[in-house]
Amino acid sequence: MYRMISRRTVVGSGLAASLATVAATPLLAGAAPAVPGRAALRQATPADVTGPHVLPPLPYDVAALEPAIDAQTMEIHHGKHHQAYVDNLNTAVVDLPDLAAMPAEELIGQLDLVPEDRRTAVRNNGGGHVNHTMFWESMTPGGGEPAGALADAITATFGDLAAMQETVNTAGLGHFGSGWAWLIVNPAGELEVTSTPNQDNPLMADLVETTGTPILGVDVWEHAYYLAYQSRRADYLAAWWSVVNWETVGLRYEQATGQ
Ligand code: MN
Repeated sequence: MYRMISRRTVVGSGLAASLATVAATPLLAGAAPAVPGRAALRQATPADVTGPHVLPPLPYDVAALEPAIDAQTMEIHHGKHHQAYVDNLNTAVVDLPDLAAMPAEELIGQLDLVPEDRRTAVRNNGGGHVNHTMFWESMTPGGGEPAGALADAITATFGDLAAMQETVNTAGLGHFGSGWAWLIVNPAGELEVTSTPNQDNPLMADLVETTGTPILGVDVWEHAYYLAYQSRRADYLAAWWSVVNWETVGLRYEQATGQ
C-alpha cells in the first residue's frame, strides 16, 4: 500500500531536483545563499523548493488504521494535504535562511520573527506541517489506554478517561469549520482541552485563545474524515479514539511536565 506514496514522492523529488538545479541549488545545498531579489521569490513555487522541511513518512501502512481511518483518506491526507503544507512552508521561507534553519515547532511559536508579508503563509503552512506530523505520530494500529503519570493526571483533572474524551469530542464537534481539538499541558502544568481554527496550534503564543504544549490533537477538517464519514464528524471522533497512540502521548506529557 505504501508503495504508491513512495513512487509519487520519488517522481516529485526528481522533477523538483531538476528544476532546482536551475533555480535554487545554493539554497538546497545549504550554502549561504545570495539574497534573492523579489523577482526570484515570486518565481519560487512549491515544486522548486524541496527543503529544508520534508514530509515525514507515515510510521505505519496507509491501511493500518482501518476501519477507523480508511487507506484512501490516509493516502490523500498525508501524501497530498500534508505535502502541500510542507511545500508551501518551504516556499515561504526560501529567502529567509535564519527562519528556514529553525525547527517548525519553534518557528510557529515565534511568528513575530516572520516578515509580515510571509507571516500568514508560515502560520498556516508551518502550523499544518507541525499539526499533521504530530497527528500521524499520535495514532497507532490497535490504540490502547493511557498509563502512568498521564493516566493519573487525566483522572485527577477530568474524573476519568471517558470524561476527558467527551471534553475533547465536545471541543471538536463545537468547533465551527476547519480546525483542531487539543489536549494540552497549560502554563500551570495542568491538562486542559482547547480548540484552534484552521492550522493554528496552541504553541502560537499571542495568536490563540489558550496557549500551551499540545500532547494530543485531533484534526477536524473535513479532509480528515469526509470520504468515509461524510458529515458525521461525531462518528469519526468516536472511532479515532480507538487508534490513539497513548505511549507517545504519555511521553509528550512527561516531557511537557518535566517528569
Ligand atoms: Mn488535515
